[in-house]
Amino acid sequence: MKDSQIDEVIKKLREAVRDFTTPIVTLYSQRKRTPFEVLITTILSLRTKDEVTAYASKRLLEKADTPEKLVALSEREIARLIYPVGFYNNKAKTLKKISEILIEKYGGKVPNDISKLLKLPGVGRKTANLVVTLGYDKPGICVDTHVHRITNRWGYVKTKTPKETEMELRKKLPCQYWKDINTLLVTFGQNICTPVSPFCSKCPLYPYCERVGVERSR
Ligand code: SF4
Repeated sequence: MKDSQIDEVIKKLREAVRDFTTPIVTLYSQRKRTPFEVLITTILSLRTKDEVTAYASKRLLEKADTPEKLVALSEREIARLIYPVGFYNNKAKTLKKISEILIEKYGGKVPNDISKLLKLPGVGRKTANLVVTLGYDKPGICVDTHVHRITNRWGYVKTKTPKETEMELRKKLPCQYWKDINTLLVTFGQNICTPVSPFCSKCPLYPYCERVGVERSR
């Protein structure tokens, strides 16, 4: 894909995903959630299906929608509320620790700065970027496995890791697309450009895509 085609590609992408379900973390931020709620939901969503995340997140946030309320719960209580998300015992421990740090170091507020967020336990670049973009409406690019895989298949970037992809996209992707690229490509990656055997025959991006590394498609 030529760099100059990015506007057309994003336009086609928006049309392509219109009828599919929006990822859970985006749905949460669209309903005017606080950065703390985006942070909690994102951590719960790691290695967990969206339906399970939605249920667990609702149960936990109904009880504890601030760090102060969350530290008042025991780890066992948190684990019970978020069950059956992946690694619920570890996540319960992590969420409690994060809340303690937020209270001690940041006056109970979630930082809006990626480098500070990365110092919190259990917070990687994906989570930090989602909090900044969806929680604070600031520019950031959240690169997860879908964004990494698809932008490489397009031939828009040539990178080995999601972190390298994030850095490349920060250089070349026009800023107006930073906030939305994750939501668009997660939905597109779950439904069309799937990890194994993507649906290239019905893909509206076929004319632009170099299909780098695609050996099998439908
Ligand atoms: S043409 Fe195939 S590889 Fe390229 S974006 Fe579409 S589904 Fe993905």
